[in-house]
Amino acid sequence: MSAVELVQIHPDPLERISALCSTHPSREVGGVLFGFVQPGYPVLHADHACGPGPAAEMERRRLLWDPSYVVGYIDAITARGFTAPIGRWHKHCTPDLRASAEDRVGAAAFRAALGLNALVDVIVATVHDEPISWAAYLCTAAGYDRITAELPDGVQG
Ligand SMILES: [Zn+2]
Repeated sequence: MSAVELVQIHPDPLERISALCSTHPSREVGGVLFGFVQPGYPVLHADHACGPGPAAEMERRRLLWDPSYVVGYIDAITARGFTAPIGRWHKHCTPDLRASAEDRVGAAAFRAALGLNALVDVIVATVHDEPISWAAYLCTAAGYDRITAELPDGVQG
């Protein structure tokens, strides 16, 4: 497979992520992205997203997932077989889409935990808790590189 160049974010995860951003005002929130690779194309499809769980610790610039919730969620989704974890997403409470050093470390650790060759790390920049722009990075053994995040028609990227 050629290297993934684009992640297409489907309407369902887009709505879920937008809702989670606004229901946690001034707090960083995030979770797991699920999806699949389009066979023969360098495209990842993100078709589902979850939040960080009820016991997550959310601060303005810090997020700790609720590990038992996230592991249970991944297991339940994977058992159904339609979609699988492909990465993670999180909100920035600023218009800044740049990944922090912690973002890179966290993505690499989650990639290792999932046993993936490539993991997509989606960052959602917000103003007043509303998404204003989206960025995607591909985390591999070779590095952490920006790729294209494609949103449904009519949504500002
Ligand atoms: Zn971040």
